Amino acid sequence: MPLDTSLSAGRPQKFSVCVFDVDGTLLDSDAALLEPFLALGVPAAEVTFGHVLADECARLGIDVADYLAAYRIGQAEPYPGVPEVVARLDRWAVCSNKDGPAGRAELDFWGWHPTVALFADDFGGPKQLGPVLEALGVIGDEVLFVGDTAHDRTCATASGAGFALAGWNPRAVPVAGDIVLDRPADVLGLLDNLN
Ligand SMILES: [Mg+2]
Repeated sequence: MPLDTSLSAGRPQKFSVCVFDVDGTLLDSDAALLEPFLALGVPAAEVTFGHVLADECARLGIDVADYLAAYRIGQAEPYPGVPEVVARLDRWAVCSNKDGPAGRAELDFWGWHPTVALFADDFGGPKQLGPVLEALGVIGDEVLFVGDTAHDRTCATASGAGFALAGWNPRAVPVAGDIVLDRPADVLGLLDNLN
């Protein structure tokens, strides 16, 4: 059955603010995230993505500090087209389960300066969109959250935000109701705050 990728009834055709997940959405990060686990002896098949690092490390029996010592900032590169999209955004945000210091260093590495960027240490657990919207001073209807996982979709739904799936990540699985984006530039057509 074809998926319904249209905007749901009543929702504005354009959003004023875009919030992005980082790993698997802005950054093609699976290999970079996997590498420390492999170095610490975890088989690749046991590693999953999209979780709070501390939770995944606990599940796999790895010390977070050991993981972070082996993680290389800047190894994961942006998906093609992402830097050009970010450069067009006046006001945007990041909502990520990434380790806070590593996530902020990653944004600095790529020269990205979102209006708001919240990571795992800001949420004290799995990320939520609410604190990001509060920091931006916007309500859910104004916001498009772009992510690659079911948890990202849940975050958007819980805050009344639109959800767009980063379809450029082959690991992202669409469900009915998603706005599925084929390439990062498709985000721009859904926003009304472009530079
Ligand atoms: Mg992700």
